Amino acid sequence: MSTDVLSRIIIVLVEPTHPGNIGAAARAMKNMGLSRLHLVKPHHFPSADATSRASGADDILETATVFSTLEDAIVNCSLVIGTSARIREIPWPELSPRSCAEQVAREPGQSDIAILFGREHSGLTNQEMDKCQYLLRIPCNPGFSSLNLAAAVQIISYELRMALNASHDIQTHHDEFATSNELELFYKHLHQTLQSIGFIHPDKSRSIMRRIRRLFTRTRLEKKEIDILRGILNTTQASIKTSE
Ligand code: SAH
Repeated sequence: MSTDVLSRIIIVLVEPTHPGNIGAAARAMKNMGLSRLHLVKPHHFPSADATSRASGADDILETATVFSTLEDAIVNCSLVIGTSARIREIPWPELSPRSCAEQVAREPGQSDIAILFGREHSGLTNQEMDKCQYLLRIPCNPGFSSLNLAAAVQIISYELRMALNASHDIQTHHDEFATSNELELFYKHLHQTLQSIGFIHPDKSRSIMRRIRRLFTRTRLEKKEIDILRGILNTTQASIKTSE
């Protein structure tokens, strides 16, 4: 069992409403050997309901970390996967629980890997999905496709365990991928540079930046590639200054 990969996986619950679901998710995780739980603005936590539904997975709740923003919860993650019951307006590279688990098992390096789960009533927002490389949909009855939050965590955790059992000997040959934080800093830098050269107007940049993010998301940028791109941006900005 490649326990080191399991220890890189973080289950992120975004604004869960019912503490019982947090406890049930912790139990599902512990059953499958996952231990890292990040909670973004949970409505009630800690809570007796969460502890009772965890049924012995209290240690996962005790070590769970609460964050006030999603950015902070995934800051060191090189792979971020968003789960959704809904088909999104914008087409997204999609994974099944099985292909997601295989992707995770192949992920090179030591950086963290996040799987995001949305609110019970409304799921994840498009802005939250913008931080993800993939969308994971659990195939189910098209007329009744929304699972209970903890049930979704259970299915995905099970597939992760199965894939990591099978992938013990998989070797990867990539350099390390950039983390979510490194990507955000790159996008900010790119945005500033595109404004400085007059390519985008500050008020009209949202949709173009979203498309640019999606373009880079498809390629899975490596740390060294980010260094090169930011080097180009620094040189561009320096050359504007000298020509001013
Ligand atoms: N009404 C919400 C569903 C929320 S269910 C919506 O339209 O998105 C709460 C969370 O459980 C979802 O945000 C997602 O993280 C997970 N989930 C539920 N059903 C799922 C499915 N079929 N595939 C993937 N994730 C699912």
